[in-house]
Amino acid sequence: MWRMINYIKTKGVEKFVDIETFRKHGHEFIDWVADYYKEVEKYPVRASVTPGQVKSQLPQNPPLKGESMEKIFADFQEIILPGISHWQHPGWFAYFPANTSPPSILAEILTAGLGAQCMVWATSPAATELEEVVLSWLGQMLGLPANMQGVIQDTASTATLCALLSAREKASNFSINEQGFDHPLTVYASEEAHSSIEKDVKIAGFGKTNLRNIPTDENLALIPASLEEAIIRDKNEGKKPACVIATIGTTSSTAIDPLEAIGQICRRHNIWLHVDAAFAGAAAMLEEKREMLQGMEYVDSFVVNPHKWLLTNFDCSAYFVKEPEVLTKTFAIQPEYLKTSQDKEVKNFRDWGIQLGRRFRALKLWFVLRSYGINGLKEMLRNHLELAQTFKSWVEEDKNFQLMAPVNLSLICFRFKPEGKSAEELNYLNELLLKRINDTGQVFLTHTTLKNQYALRMAIGQRTTSKKQVQEAWDLIQEKAQELMT
Ligand SMILES: *Cc1c(COP(=O)(O)O)cnc(C)c1O
Repeated sequence: MWRMINYIKTKGVEKFVDIETFRKHGHEFIDWVADYYKEVEKYPVRASVTPGQVKSQLPQNPPLKGESMEKIFADFQEIILPGISHWQHPGWFAYFPANTSPPSILAEILTAGLGAQCMVWATSPAATELEEVVLSWLGQMLGLPANMQGVIQDTASTATLCALLSAREKASNFSINEQGFDHPLTVYASEEAHSSIEKDVKIAGFGKTNLRNIPTDENLALIPASLEEAIIRDKNEGKKPACVIATIGTTSSTAIDPLEAIGQICRRHNIWLHVDAAFAGAAAMLEEKREMLQGMEYVDSFVVNPHKWLLTNFDCSAYFVKEPEVLTKTFAIQPEYLKTSQDKEVKNFRDWGIQLGRRFRALKLWFVLRSYGINGLKEMLRNHLELAQTFKSWVEEDKNFQLMAPVNLSLICFRFKPEGKSAEELNYLNELLLKRINDTGQVFLTHTTLKNQYALRMAIGQRTTSKKQVQEAWDLIQEKAQELMT
């Protein structure tokens, strides 16, 4: 019996995981990816499959016998690829970018090849130490306070959850970890804050009714006076304010909350201040944009996603904290089987976040930072900012279009606004316009609502986007808008 199983196993291994076959396909796949990058503009940016179309082409049961890589890859091309939206297409203007780059992909191959599980220092010391070094580099590049220390999380949603849990424990003197909530703690963020905040507030046990959505001004930035009023009201009602989340670059419109004023309020009331700079934080590399981080000395925690606008493939979210002890005290666990003799001298990143097992994500960020250098990354960011200003000027010059929010970075919120249309008609017209634009497959834009008005979002940030695609997008938008009026 055992011999039989071993025989099957060996045969299976030889047949499917033969290292020379791996080498052959490895070369082919790199060629395929390189060609894909060369030709990505030929693909429709947005997948146009209908719900269920992909599933219906896949067998309902897993294969009993192993299949050849040729066959699997053919199905990848025929079934999977048509159902993929091309985030690396230079005509990608939807959501925010999730840009990647050749050095990042090469590092990711090495990470997958090593297959290391980097939960504690001892399970791969280089992974932990490289993570410390590259996040220190990144902190310097963004001009973060020197006393902040970083750790890589999977996403900004998770980083913000870590911030909320740390704030919760600090505000309760670490008693909620032990006994659960015995009185309500409150959380504050602008009404424009990301949806992950509400989700995280629920997961962390605060309860949605204890999240205050603070009003915003005409620039869609949080109003500090309203924040302080809400804090005082809660205190008077016997609630304990635990955390304020300021957004640098909101998802809808890249609005920038006034950090300094918010920081002073947090200091006065002794409240944890977390900064969500998931997208916009990257721009703090630029001296001319660094002003948005004025007030960082008040900040307890900060998140930025290199997987959005810093050429590092998803996922890689950088989370910085001022007092790592609060984070580790919130998360630390010490089962016997994970104790090591170096625990006192090293960082064990398992205690810096939610997951135990960790991928070696620092490698790709290291490859990117070294390949492009500070200057290369700044050049890309400046290029995107400049393209956004150009696009903005086109919108402003066309009397049939309207700018809907300040262009703080590389996102332009705008709408088609022909004369004599009601608010409702304009919302409908713009929704239709967006559909017509996206149906061409040449570009992909998404939308938002700003103060109840439907707005199109042109988010520039793909690595290879140049003036050509931005010009083509604007021509297409104008053409489709014209068609709507005839
Ligand atoms: C994209 C974004 C997030 C969510 O990022 P994930 O890494 O996908 O969790 C959170 N906040 C802001 C402001 C964002 O733009």
